[in-house]
Amino acid sequence: DRSVSRGLGDVYKRQLQFFINISHELRTPLTLISAPLQEVLDKVTDRWIHSQLEHVRKNTNRLLHLVNQLMDYRRAELGVFHLKVRSVPVHGVIKKSFLLYERMAQHRNIFYNFCSEVEDRNVWCDPNYLELIVHNLISNAFKYTGEGQAITVVLKEENGRLVLQVKDTGEGIPPDRQEKIFERFYKVDNEHSGSGIGLSLVQRLVELHHGEITLESVEGAGSTFTVCLPCLLYTSDAA
Ligand code: ADP
Repeated sequence: DRSVSRGLGDVYKRQLQFFINISHELRTPLTLISAPLQEVLDKVTDRWIHSQLEHVRKNTNRLLHLVNQLMDYRRAELGVFHLKVRSVPVHGVIKKSFLLYERMAQHRNIFYNFCSEVEDRNVWCDPNYLELIVHNLISNAFKYTGEGQAITVVLKEENGRLVLQVKDTGEGIPPDRQEKIFERFYKVDNEHSGSGIGLSLVQRLVELHHGEITLESVEGAGSTFTVCLPCLLYTSDAA
């Protein structure tokens, strides 16, 4: 059984390497499909054509998302020695990422909240990686949370550490799967699209910052992902 899973691991590894190598080449044409498509969608009045193009748009975005994730993954792997740490106004960075999903929340009738207690704080971290962490967690929350439910992003300080939480009242994760979801390529089911890379990437990025990520989840009631970054916080002069 073990050797089978190790064998599979090698196959996946080679697959990943392959996708990583061509992801650059895929991204440009995908972007060039996506942009004019959006323009056409904005102008089309015929309902049938609109709904067909909506399918095209949805799947183009899916592909773009996958390609982006693979590129992020490679960047994280290469980035082990290239953490560009600087003093970051953490509230602003997270808020910006939060706002990117506001339209989706409205569209899907999801209660979407941002609670921050660190408005005037800076934190030592790599802002690009911080963004990646929060993007992955929020986009997962939206993937597994349905209409009328809630997603909350919390930012606070605990013992000089930055605590970032993404909470949802979505479908939750069964206890026996909770440890596994941080593994590369692990997916609880095949119903939802996704590569199973997101959370292992997030975990890597958090570890790069010498932080930790934990999960609390109740099946059917929701999940809370908590990221603790042991970065020194201080009151920013600019605030
Ligand atoms: P994927 O690209 O498949 O979403 P991830 O690594 O981001 O890969 O997540 C791994 C698995 O963890 C997902 O397939 C999903 O089953 C589960 N998962 C992640 N986030 C949540 C969440 N907020 N609620 C429920 N399940 C989740």
